[in-house]
Amino acid sequence: MAHIKLENVVKRYGEVVAVKDFNLEIHDKEFVVFLGPSGCGKTTTLRLIAGLETPEEGDIFIDGDRVNDLSPADRDIAFVFQFYALYPHLNVYDNIAFPLKAVKVEKSEIDTQVKRVAEILQISEMLNRKPSVLSGGEMQRVALGRAMVRQPKVYLLDEPMANLDAKIRVDTRAEIKRLQYEIGATTIFVTHDQVEAMSLADRIAVIHLGVLQQIGTPHEIYNRPQSLFVAGFMGMPTMNLLEAELTSQDGAPVLRLSHTDVHLRIPPERHARITSDSQENGLVFGVRPEHITAANQPNERHIPAQVHLIEPLGAVNILDIRLGTHSQTQDPILLRVRVHPTFQAAVGDTIWLGFDDKEMHLFDQKTEQTVW
Ligand code: ATP
Repeated sequence: MAHIKLENVVKRYGEVVAVKDFNLEIHDKEFVVFLGPSGCGKTTTLRLIAGLETPEEGDIFIDGDRVNDLSPADRDIAFVFQFYALYPHLNVYDNIAFPLKAVKVEKSEIDTQVKRVAEILQISEMLNRKPSVLSGGEMQRVALGRAMVRQPKVYLLDEPMANLDAKIRVDTRAEIKRLQYEIGATTIFVTHDQVEAMSLADRIAVIHLGVLQQIGTPHEIYNRPQSLFVAGFMGMPTMNLLEAELTSQDGAPVLRLSHTDVHLRIPPERHARITSDSQENGLVFGVRPEHITAANQPNERHIPAQVHLIEPLGAVNILDIRLGTHSQTQDPILLRVRVHPTFQAAVGDTIWLGFDDKEMHLFDQKTEQTVW
């Protein structure tokens, strides 16, 4: 249906640069999620694509045509906002039919389209009701129906589920994914919820301070973060990020986690990728809590450490392990490890930790870019 391209797009509000030199290509039929913390520029980027904002610099293309000067109405885009603005005096049928009536589509065709969309969204029984008697989830589906009935080139969805309670949110999420798959429309979905992003997206665009940090499949974003920000933003609990220094032990290169006695052996090919600039800038070691193994028995390749805190989460337990004490602040240096709830450990126990070098990450502290 549509291919979207943003080239060097900049948007400023006075002193604030909301979108910085943004380059992005979204393929036909793709489902892309804009993910980032509040104020990072997600909505502004969406509004630029919709034509509700004008960029100060750069170009926006839809299907190869530069659309910078096209009005929103001429871009053939349907926009669903966080706050679904339904017409309170119209029933569900007329709310959904509204965009078709506005462009004078024939009555019988409107009827076919409204009923088709209502069936997909499972709101056929509610067509005669007014919005005031609908639940939040139902109203949201009507708002989606109004966008879908038009069959536009592009759907832009700005936190469309923010007002729904947790259960309806999960149901609606599945619905949106199925619908997008069936309709095959290019879709951009804005959220600050990483679970929503992971579950919906073909590709996730992670945005921070108006800068596109990384775009990739959920798997790439989670497993191969290209910056400290992406590494620290994704995951629950998030990746362990600890300062480290490159040194050697018995003639072999090792990473020493700062303020601890933990020395991690690193393979030569990874050692070769650590530049002297990065060593000077400072190194940050990263490992996800699920990529550390914990054992109750000593093993010569594992590292002994003390359990500081246990957080039972039901399906898993998170252990906070104390690796050392910060020499200046005296704060504990902690590592979070995910274990099965049957793993036996009490606060104060010593356990043994194993690290898989294929699951280790390293970042340059100054550039915040990934070393490996
Ligand atoms: P949220 O998740 O909270 O909606 P967001 O990632 O969508 O945040 P934007 O709404 O795009 O972020 O805002 C990006 C930056 O631009 C913020 O610093 C915001 O305060 C600023 N901004 C957005 N719209 C305007 C405006 N109309 N006037 C001035 N500043 C604005």
